[in-house]
Amino acid sequence: MRSEQSADVIVVGGGPAGASTAWALARNGVDVLLLDRARFPRPKPCAEYLSPQASRILADMGALEGIERAGAAQLAGMTVRAPNGVAFEGRFAAAHGFRGFRDRGLALRRETLDAIVLDRARAAGARVAEGVAVRDLLRDAHRRVCGVRASDGERERALAARVVVGADGLRRELGAVGIGVRAAAELPGTRPPARAAADGVDPGAMTEYLTHLGDLPPIPDAVIVGLDLHLTYAKLAEAQRCILGGAEFICTTRDHAYPVEGRLLPGAGATVAALEVATGKRALCIGKPEPYLFAEAIRWAGPEAGKVVVVGDSPDYDIVAAHRVGATGVLITTGLTDAAVAAGAKGEATPDHVIHSLDELFSLPELAGA
Ligand SMILES: Cc1cc2nc3c(=O)[nH]c(=O)nc-3n(C[C@H](O)[C@H](O)[C@H](O)COP(=O)(O)OP(=O)(O)OC[C@H]3O[C@@H](n4cnc5c(N)ncnc54)[C@H](O)[C@@H]3O)c2cc1C
Repeated sequence: MRSEQSADVIVVGGGPAGASTAWALARNGVDVLLLDRARFPRPKPCAEYLSPQASRILADMGALEGIERAGAAQLAGMTVRAPNGVAFEGRFAAAHGFRGFRDRGLALRRETLDAIVLDRARAAGARVAEGVAVRDLLRDAHRRVCGVRASDGERERALAARVVVGADGLRRELGAVGIGVRAAAELPGTRPPARAAADGVDPGAMTEYLTHLGDLPPIPDAVIVGLDLHLTYAKLAEAQRCILGGAEFICTTRDHAYPVEGRLLPGAGATVAALEVATGKRALCIGKPEPYLFAEAIRWAGPEAGKVVVVGDSPDYDIVAAHRVGATGVLITTGLTDAAVAAGAKGEATPDHVIHSLDELFSLPELAGA
């Protein structure tokens, strides 16, 4: 008999991964309980592109008709455009002769798409609980996972399951390597009362709210700053508190801006600069041109990987990072940098080779015979 407190399988997360897993299990007669801390439709940052092959899976799930009815844009192909204006175009149905499940790709807002896919899981028999956040895993005497501890905001419950599927997005991947991540929704200061939240009404109410938050969580090991399209004053304040409290201050990039659809938008570097000013501390940048990511990739590849060649379109980022790990830096002129700018690169940014198309790559002495 089905119980409110247990299921054969608990799926954590109702995005595409969780909803399709729950759908597949439920249609095969498995008792599935899917938990998502959000209520659908919920927003999700995404470029919203679905390849023609994605339609095959969505058709299997019985979701494709609903997605097309919801007004999904039909995509004939893709144009990839570099910041310097160089572009190439690929069509899904063209002279190359390959035909996917459909001749068109689709694009639909994730609010709508994810809600439709989640409804298919429901229709297949999965029990879906929205507004329920999983706080922890339950373990039996042998340390095996046997359920979750979940909260609907009012009370916390233990829910038992033979199998727990983690489909809660990137956080799960980080958790798997032992890194705990605080959810943005749970950061202190993210639920201001209406008067404090209303822009331009009463800044004093926001100050009052932020300075009387009560029990603040302990200082984490690190604050990592990347591109946040939903940056708020409260998030800056919490990051400032943690950095001043001793957390490592790390950033993924210092990009000032990035080009989208013919205009520039502020890059992660803008947020990093704000926090550097607010804390008086300098962030450790782990992205290019610093060597950490390349060094880690080389470590993973192991000693048998042999000679390392980095191909990139930015002398200041790609070529400098290549040289900092002892790799050969090959500058390609199809992207950010044209041949004239490449010729002006100096010091660590001077490429070992300049190529004008990827075809030339395998004529380089380092890659001869590769
Ligand atoms: C800027 C950007 C652009 C992208 N563009 C594209 C694109 O064009 N095409 C494409 O195919 N992919 C794109 N992606 C990738 C795509 O968004 C992800 O691969 C996809 O959303 C992953 O699905 P998921 O179900 O694993 O996770 P998510 O969609 O992130 O869903 C995870 C769910 O878990 C829930 N959850 C999290 N923690 C808990 C918890 N503790 N308890 C309960 N519920 C929880 C969340 O509320 C969420 O609903 C893009 C991603 C980004 C960031």
